[in-house]
Parts: sequence; C-alpha cells; structure tokens
Amino acid sequence: MAQKPLRLLACGDVEGKFDVLFNRVRAIQKKSGNFDLLLCVGNFFGSTPDAEWEEYKTGIKKAPIQTYVLGANNQETVKYFQDADGCELAENITYLGRKGIFTGSSGLQIVYLSGTESVDEPVPGYSFSPKDVSSLRTMLCSTSQFKGVDILLTSPWPKYVGNFGNSSGEVDTKKCGSALISGLATDLKPRYHFAALEKTYYERLPYRNHIVLQETTQHATRFIALASVGNPEKKKYLYAFSIVPMKLMDAAELVKQPPDVTENPYRKSGKEASMGKPIPAPEEESACQFFFDLNEKQGRKRSSTGRDSKSSPHPKQPRKPPQPPGPCWFCLASPEVEKHLVVNIGTHCYLALAKGGLSDDHVLILPIGHYQSVVELSAEVVEEVEKYKVTLRRFFKSRGKRCVLFERNYKSHHLQLQVIPVPLSRCTTDDIKDAFVTQAEQQQIELLEIPEHSDIKQIAQPGAAYFYVELDTGEKLFHRIKKNFPLQFGREVLASEAILNIPDKSDWRQCQVSKEEEEMLARRFRKDFEPFDFTLDD
Ligand SMILES: [Zn+2]
Repeated sequence: MAQKPLRLLACGDVEGKFDVLFNRVRAIQKKSGNFDLLLCVGNFFGSTPDAEWEEYKTGIKKAPIQTYVLGANNQETVKYFQDADGCELAENITYLGRKGIFTGSSGLQIVYLSGTESVDEPVPGYSFSPKDVSSLRTMLCSTSQFKGVDILLTSPWPKYVGNFGNSSGEVDTKKCGSALISGLATDLKPRYHFAALEKTYYERLPYRNHIVLQETTQHATRFIALASVGNPEKKKYLYAFSIVPMKLMDAAELVKQPPDVTENPYRKSGKEASMGKPIPAPEEESACQFFFDLNEKQGRKRSSTGRDSKSSPHPKQPRKPPQPPGPCWFCLASPEVEKHLVVNIGTHCYLALAKGGLSDDHVLILPIGHYQSVVELSAEVVEEVEKYKVTLRRFFKSRGKRCVLFERNYKSHHLQLQVIPVPLSRCTTDDIKDAFVTQAEQQQIELLEIPEHSDIKQIAQPGAAYFYVELDTGEKLFHRIKKNFPLQFGREVLASEAILNIPDKSDWRQCQVSKEEEEMLARRFRKDFEPFDFTLDD
C-alpha cells in the first residue's frame, strides 16, 4: 500500500532543558527535513528555576515542532499539569493527559499513560494505579477486532523488558520498572513503546506478540528507552523513525517478522498477563512454583514443604532442575508451557496430554527440568519415569488398552516420552512389533531389537540421535539416527491400518482441537487417572 509514512521523533527526559532540545530538533530538521511530531516521555520539567519555561509559556520562544508530552512523575512538577485530561502548555506543546488514546488525523494511534506506578489509594497526582491500567485496557482491547496500537508512551520502563533480549546495560529490568506497564504492553501490543526515567538509552531487540505455531502471526514490538536531554555522557535521547499507521497497512506487511525478533519478555501465559498480574521473571521461580493448581485438586494442592517425605530423600529442598538455554515449551517452569494440558505432576516428572494426540488419552511423560533425552537423566529422574510407565500401563490395562511408548531424540530439545494406548481388541503386541518392523524396512530404517529391562544409556552414546519404541512387554526396537529421520515415524506407524487405523491422524497438526476441548479432555484424564495416582500416596 503506497502510504507516505509519518516521520516522528521521540525524546527522553527533557528535565527543563527546552532550549537544548529544540535547538537540536531545529538542527535535525534543517539537515534531514521536517518531522511530523515530537513525543516526550519521562520528566518534561526539571527541578531547576522556570526562567526558560516562562519564555515558551509566554510565546517569546516557540517549539519548532508539534510536541506532545506526558505528565508529572514527582510532586514538584505536578503544578505544571493543571488539567488531568490534557491541555496546551504553550504554543506547539501539548500535555496529553493522565491516560488515554490520541488518534492523529493520519490514523496513527498513540496510547499514553502518565506518571509512575502506585498501589496506594488515593493515588498521588503524579501516579497511575492498577485501576487506571485496567480501564485503559478495557477501553482499548474489548473489541474482537483489536489488533494492537501504533505507539505506547510511558515514563517508567516496563518490568522484565530485558527478558530474552539483548543486555539492558546497568539497568536491572527484573528489579526496576513497572509490572503494570508490562501487563499493559502485553495487551496493547504497541509497535513502538517508548519510556525514560533511567537516564540511559536502550533499544531492545524487537519481540513477538504471538506464540510461534500456536497463535496467528502478529506484528512485533520495539521497546526503546531514551536518556535525558543534553546528558554529559552523550547517550541517545532523541530517536527518529518513520511509521505508517497500522490501520492503513497491508496485513501481511504489518506482521512481517524482523530477523532478530525474540520471545515476548512479559508473557508468562496469555491469561495471567491479561489479568495484569505481576509476572515473575523465569529465573526467580523456585521449585515450589511447579505445584500450580490443577483445578480439581484444590483440597490437596501440595505445598513445597512437608510432602513426599517417603519418596524423596530431601523433601524440604527439591533440587532445582536444569534450566534450558532459551525458551522451551516443555520445561514446567517456562512461560511457554501449556499448563492446561498438564494432567499430573510428580517430583521430577510430569504428565501432559499430547497436543493433537492420536487419541484423547495420548499422553507424554516429561521431566520437569530441561533434559534433552533419556540418556541424560539422573538416576532419580529415571526412577520416576519408570514409575510413571508402570502406573500408566496399569491404568490403561484397566481400560482395556495396552500402551506403546516411543522417544525420538532428534530435532527436539526437551525429552518427550510419548505414551499411546492401543485397545487390546485391535491387535496384539506382536502385531504392533510387526508393524514397526515392516514399515521401518520399507523406509530403510534399521531397527535393533533390545531385550526387556535393557538400558538405552548402554546403547546410545551421549549426544547421539536415536529413536526407539517400547512395547508393553518392555521390549524395545531401537534405531540410531544418522541423518534424515522422518519426524512423524512413530505416529505414522501407530496411525496406520495395522494398528489404530486412523491414517489421517498421522500428522498432529491435523488433530488439534480447541483449547476448551483440550481443557475438557485434561479434566477427564485427571479424574480417571486419580485412583492410580502415586503422587497422592503418603
Ligand atoms: Zn525444557
């Protein structure tokens, strides 16, 4: 779409240095042409005497560009902002107001929130409250067509903005900044978010507003913090950029992902973030937070102490499991994990329904911490994996099914032991074995038979790629992957005519159901599994 972009400038704390700022803007415009707007975040006024401001206020001097500013961040400067709904402070200089949305004639949407975070009531004149943030959110995000806004202006940084990003220098984003603003940015999905107050410049790598492969692609957000005007270290305080309002953009153009895009720094789970809860940084989570509420077990929700005194040698101090190098969908502590699919949690492992499973009761045994394969597991984790296997076999047997397990340690980061129940009436264990052997032969995949009770660790070297299937007798068929192993092999064989006879389900993407349905299936599984649940034993 051939729309002429707007040319904008954003500025950090002016601190009353109006002449320095506007002279700089004049110089830039002289060199590279006029800009449409100047947006100021942080402290516009300083604590120094007002002589300079008087000249602008009385019209002796004039801002060379239409300038929009945020309100006070401290008691001393509240006096300059008389009207909470926004007003003209001087010719060409406008106070936007405490909070709201400014839509320019071009269609550009700018959301602004003045002041610093406060949880005290009544809220001081230089602060915003959780209520302010939720009313802003309701006002903007309540329509189903809401896609995001062009620009978000806040004075404080959003807390955790450095998560998954490039270094924010000396600013510790886990400690400083506002969690309310993080929640707001999560929901508003601004294309640009500007902040100041930390006396430094930080341009974060752009981040995604969607979860890859789970949600439709959305535009990315750029967070930019600016330094103070005329700072002696010459840190960047003015940021020039061009923007076409999103409502005028072609959808495909809008959602184009920059090559250096990262995970969303605020997103724990979509639900929690949209409720504006403070989001703990992943690193701050302790082992006890794995015991989140599984809906139906409120009466016996576990605490981090006083449990598992028999099964675990150190009940009070669960050892912190390994951490993944980056975002992981299966680490239980990770924000990416789909918690509604989790059906049972042990000490070292957990059970989750498979997304797009071959059947409604297709589950995964997963380690809570980040382990890539069975080969890497420590003895205590292996022990619990075995306990889950035995329990699941008993559980499925009671329902007239036998289970087939497989693991593929190839192009995957976090160990997933797939457990697929097959009705006893459909076929025998030998039929299943034959199906794997036959289809492997057809695809020139060499399967080694491994006797019952033998250990994969003795066969697979650490780091080597492999696939194996484990039959309900404990017997395994093992393949050492050299290259180009078909990722869906295990599923394909099980879905084939010889076993489950659901060939159209061999691709998990074809089997995905709505989140509501997933929640319903998980509830049902938890209830059915409860009589077998060893984690409830005392
Ligand atoms: Zn992981």
